[in-house]
Amino acid sequence: MTQMTGGTDAVSIAGVDKVFETRSGQVQALSGIDLTVAAGEFVSLIGPSGCGKSTLMRLIADLDQPSTGTVSVFGKPAKDARIAQDYGIAFQQAGLLPWRTVEENIELPLSLHGAPKAERAARVAELVSLVGLGDFADRYPDQLSGGMQQRVAIARALAEKPRLLLMDEPFGALDEMTRERMQSELVRICAETGAAVVFVTHSIPEAVFLSDRVVVMSPRPGRIQEIVTMRLAATADREEGLREQHEFFDMITAVREALHQGSPVAAVRGVETR
Ligand code: ADP
Ligand code: MG
Repeated sequence: MTQMTGGTDAVSIAGVDKVFETRSGQVQALSGIDLTVAAGEFVSLIGPSGCGKSTLMRLIADLDQPSTGTVSVFGKPAKDARIAQDYGIAFQQAGLLPWRTVEENIELPLSLHGAPKAERAARVAELVSLVGLGDFADRYPDQLSGGMQQRVAIARALAEKPRLLLMDEPFGALDEMTRERMQSELVRICAETGAAVVFVTHSIPEAVFLSDRVVVMSPRPGRIQEIVTMRLAATADREEGLREQHEFFDMITAVREALHQGSPVAAVRGVETR
């Protein structure tokens, strides 16, 4: 069975609704979602808590299925893409195995898929240096800071050179300084690997700094309220200095205004929509 929609796009979501059946009735988490993420494109999802961001990520990763509509990844149904391991996943909790060292955690997907030993060792060495953990390769997760654990999780997600990364609030637990450093590293890693990214965040500056486009979602049932294209340097060329430039603030304002359309009270009070 071949599915023609999506072509070479990294992700193609068409007419997706998601309804959960719960003991207290139905919960409509997503409604009428249409979204395409091009190969190599960085797209962030932002919106209030409970608007369905994680649900949408889970549908792309085939950890759950839509009630209506279709999700394809590199032109294949989401299920086939999962089986083919077409993407890497990094979620808020680093999810490392505590009894495995940094190297062994990163190696895990490679050993699970039977890569030869020498090839695994070479790839792990490359990844450890890519995420700047050369001096920590034989440490265990509990010997690392939160930022370092998250870098291990990202290295593990990159192990099989995915053309797509799915990241759900991967930096949510980090302090602001570490978070900004991780954002710059992610920019560099994406430039080096050419991977497309779907990235969930609560942080407007984070979404702006990283993305080609920011998808603003409305409160439940989650719909796409607006897609804001970042009129900034190409993502591969974004540097720390961008954070102090007026075009960066202009894009923050554009995303903020799009978010507040779904929450007029919050806009009046000037509080962050979460
Ligand atoms: P977000 O990630 O944007 O905070 P979620 O995707 O986690 O939101 O959740 C969207 C809505 O769907 C919420 O109301 C949540 O309670 C509901 N939901 C998520 N997963 C389930 C589930 N497995 N069963 C029932 N309801 C769920
Ligand atoms: Mg979530």
